[in-house]
Amino acid sequence: MAKPTFFNYPTFRETKIPKIRLAHWKPVTTYTKFRWVVQAVVVVSFVLAPYLHWLKLDFTNDRYWLLGHEVSMVIALQAVVILWIGTYFINFFENYLIGRLLCGWICPWGLLNRLGMIINNFLRRHKRRALILTLANLGFAATATLVVMNWVIDLATLVKPQHPYFGLVWITFAVLALIGFAILHKMGFKFCESICPFGMYLTVVTQKNSLRIAFDTGLACVDCGLCTQVCPMDLSPREMDFKDLMSGGFGQCILCGDCIDVCKIRMDLEGLPAPLRWNTGENIIPLLPLEQMPTTD
Ligand code: SF4
Ligand code: SF4
Repeated sequence: MAKPTFFNYPTFRETKIPKIRLAHWKPVTTYTKFRWVVQAVVVVSFVLAPYLHWLKLDFTNDRYWLLGHEVSMVIALQAVVILWIGTYFINFFENYLIGRLLCGWICPWGLLNRLGMIINNFLRRHKRRALILTLANLGFAATATLVVMNWVIDLATLVKPQHPYFGLVWITFAVLALIGFAILHKMGFKFCESICPFGMYLTVVTQKNSLRIAFDTGLACVDCGLCTQVCPMDLSPREMDFKDLMSGGFGQCILCGDCIDVCKIRMDLEGLPAPLRWNTGENIIPLLPLEQMPTTD
Protein backbone atom coordinates (compact mmCIF):
# COMPACT_ATOMS: atom_id res chain seq x y z
CA MET A 1 0.00 0.00 0.00
CA ALA A 2 1.25 3.47 -0.80
CA LYS A 3 2.11 5.88 1.98
CA PRO A 4 -0.51 8.55 2.71
CA THR A 5 0.09 12.15 1.69
CA PHE A 6 -0.50 14.26 4.76
CA PHE A 7 -3.10 16.93 4.49
CA ASN A 8 -1.44 20.34 4.43
CA TYR A 9 -3.25 23.57 5.10
CA PRO A 10 -1.37 26.90 5.45
CA THR A 11 -3.54 28.53 8.12
CA PHE A 12 -2.92 25.91 10.81
CA ARG A 13 -1.67 27.52 14.00
CA GLU A 14 1.83 26.86 15.34
CA THR A 15 1.86 24.06 17.81
CA LYS A 16 1.66 25.15 21.45
CA ILE A 17 3.10 21.88 22.67
CA PRO A 18 6.89 22.12 23.04
CA LYS A 19 8.71 20.30 20.27
CA ILE A 20 10.76 18.10 22.49
CA ARG A 21 10.77 14.39 22.94
CA LEU A 22 7.62 14.43 25.04
CA ALA A 23 7.10 12.20 27.99
CA HIS A 24 3.39 12.37 27.82
CA TRP A 25 1.84 11.75 31.21
CA LYS A 26 -1.32 13.80 31.42
CA PRO A 27 -4.12 11.44 30.42
CA VAL A 28 -6.45 13.03 27.89
CA THR A 29 -8.73 10.31 26.61
CA THR A 30 -10.69 7.81 28.66
CA TYR A 31 -8.33 5.18 27.31
CA THR A 32 -5.17 6.73 28.77
CA LYS A 33 -6.89 7.56 32.05
CA PHE A 34 -7.75 3.87 32.46
CA ARG A 35 -4.24 2.90 31.44
CA TRP A 36 -2.69 4.75 34.38
CA VAL A 37 -5.25 3.24 36.77
CA VAL A 38 -4.59 -0.30 35.47
CA GLN A 39 -0.83 0.17 35.70
CA ALA A 40 -1.13 1.39 39.29
CA VAL A 41 -3.35 -1.59 40.22
CA VAL A 42 -0.88 -4.03 38.60
CA VAL A 43 2.08 -2.58 40.50
CA VAL A 44 0.20 -2.60 43.82
CA SER A 45 -0.94 -6.23 43.28
CA PHE A 46 2.60 -7.23 42.39
CA VAL A 47 3.76 -5.86 45.74
CA LEU A 48 0.79 -7.09 47.80
CA ALA A 49 0.53 -10.69 46.50
CA PRO A 50 3.67 -12.00 48.25
CA TYR A 51 3.30 -9.56 51.17
CA LEU A 52 -0.18 -10.92 51.97
CA HIS A 53 1.01 -14.46 51.26
CA TRP A 54 -1.44 -14.99 48.40
CA LEU A 55 1.53 -16.68 46.76
CA LYS A 56 4.94 -16.58 48.33
CA LEU A 57 7.95 -18.85 48.07
CA ASP A 58 10.55 -18.20 50.72
CA PHE A 59 13.48 -20.36 49.61
CA THR A 60 15.75 -18.74 52.18
CA ASN A 61 13.76 -20.24 55.08
CA ASP A 62 12.11 -23.12 53.20
CA ARG A 63 8.59 -21.81 53.83
CA TYR A 64 5.80 -21.43 51.26
CA TRP A 65 2.34 -19.89 51.23
CA LEU A 66 -0.71 -20.06 49.02
CA LEU A 67 -3.85 -17.97 49.55
CA GLY A 68 -2.72 -17.09 53.07
CA HIS A 69 -2.02 -20.67 54.18
CA GLU A 70 1.37 -22.23 54.66
CA VAL A 71 1.78 -25.11 52.21
CA SER A 72 4.49 -27.48 51.01
CA MET A 73 7.03 -26.44 48.39
CA VAL A 74 5.47 -28.83 45.86
CA ILE A 75 2.03 -27.22 46.16
CA ALA A 76 3.48 -23.73 45.95
CA LEU A 77 5.48 -24.67 42.83
CA GLN A 78 2.39 -26.23 41.27
CA ALA A 79 0.56 -22.95 41.88
CA VAL A 80 3.39 -21.07 40.15
CA VAL A 81 3.21 -23.37 37.11
CA ILE A 82 -0.58 -23.03 36.90
CA LEU A 83 -0.28 -19.26 37.23
CA TRP A 84 2.29 -19.13 34.41
CA ILE A 85 0.29 -21.35 32.07
CA GLY A 86 -2.91 -19.41 32.85
CA THR A 87 -1.16 -16.11 32.24
CA TYR A 88 0.25 -17.41 28.97
CA PHE A 89 -3.16 -18.46 27.61
CA ILE A 90 -4.92 -15.30 28.78
CA ASN A 91 -2.18 -13.28 27.18
CA PHE A 92 -2.29 -15.30 23.96
CA PHE A 93 -5.99 -14.56 23.46
CA GLU A 94 -5.64 -10.99 24.63
CA ASN A 95 -2.85 -10.46 22.13
CA TYR A 96 -4.79 -12.09 19.31
CA LEU A 97 -7.67 -9.66 19.83
CA ILE A 98 -6.04 -6.57 21.20
CA GLY A 99 -2.39 -6.65 20.16
CA ARG A 100 0.47 -5.72 22.51
CA LEU A 101 -1.80 -4.27 25.16
CA LEU A 102 0.12 -6.17 27.82
CA CYS A 103 3.29 -4.14 27.10
CA GLY A 104 1.53 -0.80 27.33
CA TRP A 105 -0.89 -1.52 30.15
CA ILE A 106 0.42 -4.31 32.36
CA CYS A 107 4.20 -4.60 32.20
CA PRO A 108 5.66 -2.82 35.25
CA TRP A 109 8.98 -2.50 33.41
CA GLY A 110 7.34 -0.28 30.82
CA LEU A 111 5.98 1.84 33.66
CA LEU A 112 9.50 2.34 35.05
CA ASN A 113 10.71 3.36 31.58
CA ARG A 114 7.87 5.83 31.38
CA LEU A 115 8.67 7.31 34.81
CA GLY A 116 12.28 7.78 33.65
CA MET A 117 11.05 9.62 30.55
CA ILE A 118 8.78 11.82 32.64
CA ILE A 119 11.62 12.75 35.03
CA ASN A 120 13.87 13.42 32.05
CA ASN A 121 11.24 15.68 30.58
CA PHE A 122 10.52 17.61 33.80
CA LEU A 123 14.21 18.21 34.43
CA ARG A 124 15.09 19.11 30.87
CA ARG A 125 16.48 22.52 31.88
CA HIS A 126 18.00 21.34 35.15
CA LYS A 127 21.80 21.45 35.41
CA ARG A 128 21.99 18.13 37.18
CA ARG A 129 19.47 16.30 35.02
CA ALA A 130 21.88 13.50 34.09
CA LEU A 131 22.85 12.84 37.71
CA ILE A 132 19.27 12.93 39.00
CA LEU A 133 18.10 10.64 36.21
CA THR A 134 20.92 8.18 36.96
CA LEU A 135 20.01 8.13 40.65
CA ALA A 136 16.32 7.77 39.86
CA ASN A 137 16.96 4.83 37.53
CA LEU A 138 19.22 3.24 40.16
CA GLY A 139 16.40 3.65 42.68
CA PHE A 140 13.83 2.20 40.25
CA ALA A 141 16.07 -0.78 39.44
CA ALA A 142 16.80 -1.50 43.12
CA THR A 143 13.11 -1.19 44.07
CA ALA A 144 11.99 -3.41 41.17
CA THR A 145 14.61 -6.01 42.16
CA LEU A 146 13.38 -6.02 45.76
CA VAL A 147 9.76 -6.36 44.63
CA VAL A 148 10.65 -9.35 42.42
CA MET A 149 12.90 -10.98 45.03
CA ASN A 150 10.13 -10.65 47.61
CA TRP A 151 8.27 -13.39 45.71
CA VAL A 152 11.02 -15.95 46.32
CA ILE A 153 12.92 -14.97 49.46
CA ASP A 154 12.41 -13.32 52.81
CA LEU A 155 13.74 -9.79 52.29
CA ALA A 156 14.67 -9.64 55.98
CA THR A 157 17.58 -11.94 55.03
CA LEU A 158 19.30 -8.83 53.67
CA VAL A 159 19.68 -7.48 57.22
CA LYS A 160 20.59 -10.74 58.95
CA PRO A 161 24.36 -11.25 58.57
CA GLN A 162 24.13 -14.51 60.53
CA HIS A 163 21.71 -16.03 58.00
CA PRO A 164 23.37 -18.76 55.81
CA TYR A 165 22.04 -17.12 52.62
CA PHE A 166 22.96 -13.55 53.59
CA GLY A 167 25.89 -13.27 51.12
CA LEU A 168 24.10 -15.04 48.29
CA VAL A 169 21.01 -12.87 48.63
CA TRP A 170 23.08 -9.68 48.58
CA ILE A 171 25.07 -10.83 45.51
CA THR A 172 21.83 -11.75 43.69
CA PHE A 173 20.30 -8.40 44.60
CA ALA A 174 23.37 -6.44 43.45
CA VAL A 175 23.67 -8.32 40.13
CA LEU A 176 19.96 -8.06 39.28
CA ALA A 177 19.74 -4.40 40.32
CA LEU A 178 22.79 -3.51 38.19
CA ILE A 179 21.46 -5.38 35.15
CA GLY A 180 18.09 -3.67 35.64
CA PHE A 181 19.77 -0.28 35.96
CA ALA A 182 21.84 -0.82 32.79
CA ILE A 183 18.73 -1.80 30.82
CA LEU A 184 16.62 1.06 32.20
CA HIS A 185 19.28 3.72 31.89
CA LYS A 186 20.92 2.75 28.63
CA MET A 187 18.10 1.15 26.67
CA GLY A 188 14.76 2.38 27.95
CA PHE A 189 12.00 1.30 25.57
CA LYS A 190 14.66 0.00 23.12
CA PHE A 191 14.69 -3.07 25.33
CA CYS A 192 10.96 -3.61 24.74
CA GLU A 193 11.45 -2.91 21.05
CA SER A 194 14.27 -5.26 20.23
CA ILE A 195 15.37 -7.49 23.14
CA CYS A 196 12.45 -8.47 25.36
CA PRO A 197 11.58 -12.00 24.13
CA PHE A 198 8.00 -11.62 25.28
CA GLY A 199 7.62 -8.38 23.35
CA MET A 200 9.09 -9.98 20.21
CA TYR A 201 6.69 -12.87 20.51
CA LEU A 202 3.77 -10.47 20.89
CA THR A 203 4.94 -8.52 17.84
CA VAL A 204 4.91 -11.64 15.69
CA VAL A 205 1.47 -12.86 16.72
CA THR A 206 -0.26 -9.48 16.50
CA GLN A 207 -3.07 -9.55 13.95
CA LYS A 208 -3.92 -6.96 11.36
CA ASN A 209 -7.45 -6.80 12.74
CA SER A 210 -6.36 -6.46 16.37
CA LEU A 211 -6.97 -3.19 18.14
CA ARG A 212 -4.48 -0.71 16.69
CA ILE A 213 -3.86 2.90 15.82
CA ALA A 214 -5.32 4.07 12.52
CA PHE A 215 -4.40 7.20 10.62
CA ASP A 216 -7.45 8.55 8.86
CA THR A 217 -6.19 10.00 5.59
CA GLY A 218 -9.58 11.61 5.07
CA LEU A 219 -9.01 13.97 8.01
CA ALA A 220 -6.69 16.98 8.27
CA CYS A 221 -3.21 16.46 9.73
CA VAL A 222 -1.10 19.55 10.49
CA ASP A 223 2.07 17.48 10.14
CA CYS A 224 3.27 18.68 13.56
CA GLY A 225 5.11 15.42 14.15
CA LEU A 226 4.09 15.30 17.82
CA CYS A 227 2.69 11.79 17.48
CA THR A 228 6.13 10.57 16.37
CA GLN A 229 7.95 12.53 19.07
CA VAL A 230 5.80 11.21 21.86
CA CYS A 231 5.91 7.55 20.82
CA PRO A 232 7.94 5.61 23.42
CA MET A 233 8.61 2.89 20.84
CA ASP A 234 10.10 5.30 18.27
CA LEU A 235 7.38 4.56 15.77
CA SER A 236 5.76 6.85 13.29
CA PRO A 237 2.10 6.25 14.20
CA ARG A 238 0.84 7.69 10.91
CA GLU A 239 2.83 5.19 8.90
CA MET A 240 2.58 1.99 10.91
CA ASP A 241 0.10 0.42 8.52
CA PHE A 242 2.52 0.86 5.65
CA LYS A 243 5.56 -0.66 7.33
CA ASP A 244 6.70 -4.17 8.04
CA LEU A 245 5.10 -5.71 11.16
CA MET A 246 8.51 -6.21 12.78
CA SER A 247 10.10 -2.96 11.74
CA GLY A 248 8.09 0.15 12.40
CA GLY A 249 4.75 -1.61 11.81
CA PHE A 250 1.75 -1.90 14.12
CA GLY A 251 3.14 -5.14 15.59
CA GLN A 252 5.60 -3.01 17.58
CA CYS A 253 2.96 -0.65 18.91
CA ILE A 254 2.32 -1.19 22.62
CA LEU A 255 -1.08 0.55 22.42
CA CYS A 256 -0.21 3.15 25.02
CA GLY A 257 -2.42 5.73 23.30
CA ASP A 258 0.01 8.63 23.76
CA CYS A 259 0.03 9.49 20.06
CA ILE A 260 -3.76 9.67 20.06
CA ASP A 261 -3.68 11.93 23.11
CA VAL A 262 -1.22 14.44 21.63
CA CYS A 263 -2.96 14.39 18.28
CA LYS A 264 -6.23 15.20 20.02
CA ILE A 265 -4.60 18.03 22.02
CA ARG A 266 -3.06 19.44 18.85
CA MET A 267 -6.14 19.20 16.66
CA ASP A 268 -8.36 20.61 19.44
CA LEU A 269 -6.40 23.85 18.91
CA GLU A 270 -7.77 23.86 15.39
CA GLY A 271 -11.23 22.75 16.39
CA LEU A 272 -10.88 19.74 14.09
CA PRO A 273 -11.16 15.99 14.69
CA ALA A 274 -7.87 14.19 15.20
CA PRO A 275 -6.71 12.05 12.26
CA LEU A 276 -5.07 9.51 14.59
CA ARG A 277 -7.62 7.24 16.17
CA TRP A 278 -8.29 3.65 17.16
CA ASN A 279 -9.45 1.28 14.46
CA THR A 280 -12.54 0.50 16.53
CA GLY A 281 -14.84 1.27 13.64
CA GLU A 282 -13.29 -1.40 11.45
CA ASN A 283 -14.35 -4.98 12.01
CA ILE A 284 -12.94 -5.45 15.46
CA ILE A 285 -14.55 -5.70 18.85
CA PRO A 286 -15.55 -2.13 19.82
CA LEU A 287 -13.73 -1.97 23.12
CA LEU A 288 -13.57 1.77 23.51
CA PRO A 289 -16.15 4.35 24.41
CA LEU A 290 -17.84 6.32 21.65
CA GLU A 291 -15.86 9.48 22.35
CA GLN A 292 -12.91 7.68 20.75
CA MET A 293 -14.67 7.06 17.50
CA PRO A 294 -13.80 9.20 14.47
CA THR A 295 -16.06 12.14 13.72
CA THR A 296 -15.87 12.23 9.97
CA ASP A 297 -19.45 13.35 9.29
S1 SF4 B 1 2.23 4.25 18.04
FE1 SF4 B 1 1.03 5.40 19.56
S2 SF4 B 1 0.01 3.85 20.80
FE2 SF4 B 1 1.67 2.82 19.65
S3 SF4 B 1 3.42 2.85 21.04
FE3 SF4 B 1 3.59 4.67 19.75
S4 SF4 B 1 2.55 6.30 20.93
FE4 SF4 B 1 1.94 4.34 21.86
S1 SF4 C 1 -0.08 14.51 16.01
FE1 SF4 C 1 -1.84 14.38 14.65
S2 SF4 C 1 -1.78 16.33 13.54
FE2 SF4 C 1 0.28 16.05 14.43
S3 SF4 C 1 1.44 14.95 12.82
FE3 SF4 C 1 0.56 13.39 14.15
S4 SF4 C 1 -1.34 12.84 13.08
FE4 SF4 C 1 -0.73 14.81 12.24
